[in-house]
Amino acid sequence: MIKVKNLIIGAGISGLTYANYINDDYLIIEKEDSAGGYCKTIIEGDYIWDYAGHFFHFKEEEFKKKFIDSLDASQYVTKDKKTYIYYNNSLIDYPFQMNIHELPKEEFIACLYDLFNKKEKEKYDNFLDMLYGKFGASIVEKFLKPYNEKLYACDLKKLDVDAMGRFFPYADLKAIIENMKNGSSKSYNDTFLYPKKGAQVIIDILLTKIPKEKIKLNAFVKSIDLKNKTVVLNDGEKIEYERLINTIPFNQFLKLTNNKEYSDLSDKLTYNQVLVFNLGFDKKSSFNKESWIYFPDKDINFYRVGFYDNILNGEKLSMYIEIGYAKDYQITKEEIKRQLDLTLSNLKKVGITDDSFNLKAEMSIVMNPAYVHIDTKNNLKIKEIMAILAQNNVYSIGRYGGWTYCSMEDCMLEAKNLAQK
Ligand SMILES: Cc1cc2nc3c(=O)[nH]c(=O)nc-3n(C[C@H](O)[C@H](O)[C@H](O)COP(=O)(O)OP(=O)(O)OC[C@H]3O[C@@H](n4cnc5c(N)ncnc54)[C@H](O)[C@@H]3O)c2cc1C
Repeated sequence: MIKVKNLIIGAGISGLTYANYINDDYLIIEKEDSAGGYCKTIIEGDYIWDYAGHFFHFKEEEFKKKFIDSLDASQYVTKDKKTYIYYNNSLIDYPFQMNIHELPKEEFIACLYDLFNKKEKEKYDNFLDMLYGKFGASIVEKFLKPYNEKLYACDLKKLDVDAMGRFFPYADLKAIIENMKNGSSKSYNDTFLYPKKGAQVIIDILLTKIPKEKIKLNAFVKSIDLKNKTVVLNDGEKIEYERLINTIPFNQFLKLTNNKEYSDLSDKLTYNQVLVFNLGFDKKSSFNKESWIYFPDKDINFYRVGFYDNILNGEKLSMYIEIGYAKDYQITKEEIKRQLDLTLSNLKKVGITDDSFNLKAEMSIVMNPAYVHIDTKNNLKIKEIMAILAQNNVYSIGRYGGWTYCSMEDCMLEAKNLAQK
């Protein structure tokens, strides 16, 4: 039996950052044949793709410096975000609620009228209730509801008021009116950094500090005995730990503990999947400046598309396309083929491509889970269980381990703070 002080489950950005900051013995267990988790990059001929775009919006100087100091200036780009909503055959600036003045006059008046007459409440029952209360019916029904239903693939009444946390672009009437005159809308990700070789570059930077023998690849955690502080792998090997750092999805982690109460909570946790297509075409589109575009229209199968070529100043259209699914939906090969055909046809419909474009490379990835659904009742239970786990030196961190909505940098910060604590 192997004995280790810090056992880290998962070699994504959270697990690798923890390993970078811990001054102690550790071992990382990773089920795939390479490290990176959702921050991996795939290179197909001329095209460099992530698991859907993974852009860096650093707030922490230390991480930004780590990134910049490890790279030559020619190896990454700093970009001003250019994001739009495809609405009734034209593009309006994102976020919708801040840019209603770009809508046709009748629709603008409807949005403004409902915004003035919205019925705000002290306490909202759910995400949809909050949207109506803060923005009024027109903004909700024209964009916020259809778009978020496509993204979360669920009834928005089932989502918590704070489902998107700080990622939700809140705006009050004053800010909306101000933006109409001065275009002063600001968001957490107005500019971002992106390595020319994709998000994996940050993983490679973190890996430089991790000796090869400290990561066990192709090793799958099959069960966790919290009482005896041991973990069993797919090949039957047992590992004894002093401290366990989990970064795999919390619902899966709970199941591995063979604890009835934990397993019951696991069954209650909901989330959605995202099918991502990465597509490479033979020439540039007339959509040649957009970073990414949101699609609320239910007749279009995707909810968001992004343009790697516009971000990296490439000469050929290179895109990611995102499609939301409920957690239990079986995304079969036939479904992927059906969605690819629909995607190619919808790209033509919205004018991003036309019959003269040839698809040169394509691939699909299923991100499962992609967005966890935050729910107040389950959240209380999660917190309660996490506190008990912490008393036993077990910590569940990261976007999925922590069952939250957060960025790569948030994951790094949480992992660093825990290691230093
Ligand atoms: C569509 C989409 C777009 C995104 N875009 C951005 C963006 O632009 N910018 C940004 O900052 N963030 C973005 N994110 C968020 C970002 O992907 C996550 O915050 C981050 O990658 C989470 O890293 P992690 O290490 O916590 O988890 P993961 O990357 O999921 O790592 C967990 C690891 O555990 C391994 N594992 C799972 N089960 C087991 C097991 N039983 N045994 C052993 N190993 C196991 C997995 O293989 C994986 O390597 C996006 C997310 C999505 C879904």
